[in-house]
This record gives sequence, C-alpha cells and structure tokens, in this order.
Amino acid sequence: MSYVDEVFDLVVAKNPAQPEFHQAVKEVLESLRVVIEANEEQYRKDALLERLVTPERQLLFRVPWVDDKGQVQVNNGFRVQFNSAIGPYKGGLRLHPSVNLGIIKFLGFEQIFKNSLTGLPIGGGKGGSDFDPKGKSDREVMAFCQSFITELHKYIGADTDVPAGDIGTGAREIGYMYGQYKRLTGLYEGVLTGKGLSYGGSLARTEATGYGLLYLTEEMLKCNGKDIAGKIVAISGSGNVAIYAAQKAQQLGAKVVTVSDSTGWVYDPEGIDVDLLKEVKEVKRARLTEYAAARKSAEYHEKKNGEHGVWNIKCDIALPCATQNELDLEDAKALVANGCFAVAEGANMPTTMEATEYLQKNGVLFCPGKAANAGGVATSALEMSQNSERLSWTFEEVDSKLKGIMVNIFHNLDDAAKKYGMAGNYVAGANIAGFLKVADAMTAQGIV
Ligand code: NDP
Repeated sequence: MSYVDEVFDLVVAKNPAQPEFHQAVKEVLESLRVVIEANEEQYRKDALLERLVTPERQLLFRVPWVDDKGQVQVNNGFRVQFNSAIGPYKGGLRLHPSVNLGIIKFLGFEQIFKNSLTGLPIGGGKGGSDFDPKGKSDREVMAFCQSFITELHKYIGADTDVPAGDIGTGAREIGYMYGQYKRLTGLYEGVLTGKGLSYGGSLARTEATGYGLLYLTEEMLKCNGKDIAGKIVAISGSGNVAIYAAQKAQQLGAKVVTVSDSTGWVYDPEGIDVDLLKEVKEVKRARLTEYAAARKSAEYHEKKNGEHGVWNIKCDIALPCATQNELDLEDAKALVANGCFAVAEGANMPTTMEATEYLQKNGVLFCPGKAANAGGVATSALEMSQNSERLSWTFEEVDSKLKGIMVNIFHNLDDAAKKYGMAGNYVAGANIAGFLKVADAMTAQGIV
C-alpha cells in the first residue's frame, strides 16, 4: 500500500466519527501524492505524514457561564494547536452550535497550509465552541467569552498561539476576550487579532478576507486571459467574508446578484446593495428578509431541505463564502450548465470533493479556500507585526500589502502546479506549495 493510503487509513482509524477532518486530510494527501512518492523513503523514516496529520496539542475544556435568567449553561471549548513548524499557532475561533472536535481539526489542518502559503511566519491552529451567539444578549455573550478565555489564556500568547475571529466571532467577541485576557495576565500584547482599532486592531482586517478573495480571483482570471469587470458574480453567505467580497467585486466592476444566510437567500438582479446589506447584517444583526423588504429589486427565497439556492442562478463567477460543504455535485452541475467559468472559495472547504472534481473536469477555474481566503490570516499576521512594533499602518499600506500577498499566493500555487505537471490544478498547486515549506521546516527541526 502506498504511504499516502496508509496514512489516510490511519487517520480514519484513529479519529473515528470526524468526517470533515477525514475529508480535509484526503483532499490534501491525494494532491501531494506525486511529491510524497518522490521523497517516500525519507518521509516514511521520519514519519513526516503521521506527524503532519497529528495535532501537536488538543485542548478540550468546559465553558460554564450564567444566562440572563440566572441559569448556568455549559459549552464545550476547543483549541487545536496543530503545527508550529513555521511560526506560532494562528487560526480563528468558531462559535456555532455545529462545532465539534472533528470540525476544529479539519479547520486547523487546512490552516497549516494556508498560513504557509501567505509566506508569513505563522503555524496552524483553530479553536472555538458549540456556543451560539445568535439570540444572546450582549451580557450573555460577554459572560461566555470571559469564561472561555479564563481557561484558554493559559495556553495562548503573542509568541505561542494567536487566535482570531471566524464564524460567530466578530469584533464584539474578540473585544470581550481581549479584555479578559488582559485582566488575567496583565499583558497588553498582540495575543488576539481582529481587535478593534482603538486597542491594537489593524485597519483593513475587517475587509481583508473578502478583499483578498477578489484580489486573488482577479489575478487568476488575468492569468487565464479573462477580466472580472462586467461579470456576474454569485456569492453565498452574508457574513464578514461575503459582505467584503461583494464590496470589492463591485469596486472591480462586477455585478453581485446573490447572498444567503442559513435560512434563505436573495437574488437581486440589479446588483446587491452592499450598504443596505451591511446595515441589515452588521448593525441590526437581522435576517435577509429585512434586506429583501427594503429593496424592490430583490427576491427572497426561503431555503428548502438540502437546497443551496444561489448556485442555480446564472453567473460567470461563483464565490462560496458561508460554510463547509455548501456547494455539492448538483450545485456544480448547475453552475457549469449555466456557463460559470470560475469558482474561488471564500469559506473553508465549501465545495465537496465530488463537486471540485466536476468543476475541474469541466474546465472551470477553481481556487481552493486555503489560498483564496488566506487574506484574512495574512492581515492578522500584519496586525501581529504592528502590535510588536507598537505602530499602526494606514489602510492603504495594509491593503497594498494584502494585495501583494494575494497575487504572490496565486503565482506560488500556479508555479507549483506547473512544476509538478498539473498546470491549472490550483488545488494541487496550493497543497504542494503550502506543504513543501512546512515539510522542510519540520525536517530541519528534527523529530519533535
Ligand atoms: P460570519 O459568521 O460572519 O458569516 C457566516 C455566514 O455564513 C452567515 O451568512 C451565516 O448565516 C452563513 N452560515 C454559517 N453557517 C452556516 C450553515 N451551517 N449553513 C448555512 N449558512 C451558514 O462568518 P465569516 O464570514 O467570518 O466566515 C465565513 C466562512 O469563511 C467560514 O467558512 C470561515 O471559516 C471562512 N473564513 C473566514 C475568515 C474571516 O476572516 N472571517 C478567514 C478565512 C476563512 P447565518 O447568519 O444565518 O448563520
């Protein structure tokens, strides 16, 4: 049996009931096959793959907090410190009822390669909780965040592990967590990113993942003789990534016609009104029904069982920006049938493996999330640099560095795909380029 297959079987046996983690490992290992086979003897001897797929440390903890009725609630807290070969662990905190260890491990594993691709010195980690901030009062969210950090603060620090936002963790949650960290440790340091501007946050961090997605998409299209201006774009999600992806797409001359949330989706043939979307989602924290009610040209569709809706709308470019496995084979077929020629992932692993293969086989340019959404973590790393320097850079400075990083990422993965005989396969290119740097650092640092 090949080394890749052996290690994949081991992952399934040792991590039962973690399908998302298995999926992420399979996708990465499959596309690394050619590189692994070329170095098989050494990698086997060093158990490099076994070490790569095993987190350095997994923290599981209880998060008790008191709700507004005086009732004690208990959530599960997670932090997976996956790989520190190239820098301190870095990765977001997801707050969503669906969170479990397997989801955090899939995200942490992906993060290793994403962080490597940015070219910045950051290792891979991820964390979160099955706490749902939706429908909770500010006081309840604060109580949860303080309890979460009371345990987690023992294991994080500006030079060891630097968490950030993700689904359900925005500026409000990061603020509460930072305040509690500071109170417990007495340290004013860059231990969390995505902070508010008044206490060490970076300009352009809020916009970074969505803007970065568009900078990379623009470069991918340019290198394939296409232009984003005048194109129709379908976006899923209506959170941080989706909103700023829509904003940048429109600035670049495209028309964004869809957004969605977990209960429904909007088709707006006149183009999404981003200011209205921000008002509904960022200020009112309301559902998309409010967007549709305020905008004549918008149609609202309730989500029916298993349907993802937005991918049936005719578009040139699709940007899934909500959550994992939200674009399946049926969706991929609808996109191809409607003439979509590019898909770039704003979310983490939003496209199933079958859908990815179908898109690639049908000539759709496909860029995986670990490259396409790396602008968020890259800008988080720029926030860490500013905190260490005790300086704040201007929006333009950060934005121009972000653009440079995204263009660079695209060329790295394009070159890696070409070098290993898979030109145009950006999934393989991203995995190979991300892996080689980490493997090199792990080998140089000995058996640790
Ligand atoms: P937000 O919480 O701001 O928004 C998430 C959006 O996705 C919301 O519209 C939400 O709808 C929808 N959504 C979440 N879960 C589900 C679900 N199970 N089914 C359907 N819709 C869902 O998160 P972000 O925008 O920050 O993150 C979106 C994706 O991008 C995630 O995969 C995240 O890991 C990834 N990402 C985020 C980065 C960042 O900087 N924020 C960086 C890199 C990747 P609803 O409000 O109804 O729940």
